[in-house]
Amino acid sequence: MTDWTRPSVFVQYKGTDICLDFHCICDTEDEPAGVGHYDGYDAYALQCGRCGRIYEMPQELKLTLVEETAFTPVVVETDDTEGD
Ligand SMILES: [Zn+2]
Repeated sequence: MTDWTRPSVFVQYKGTDICLDFHCICDTEDEPAGVGHYDGYDAYALQCGRCGRIYEMPQELKLTLVEETAFTPVVVETDDTEGD
């Protein structure tokens, strides 16, 4: 049984090139760590270079519904649109 909510996407990473800014829980107001940055492939899990904590990348992302976007959206066919 799934407990996912809509709108959302389930992500399957396929060695995809990524650029990310990382904030660990060790980055606190009392002990600021700043932003970690990574550019590259295969970021299935991240490890903080400061404290060593390891995080897995999420496979389910919540989507934000918008009226307009500066990006060109990709059209994702759903099961019930196939064959129309
Ligand atoms: Zn950390």
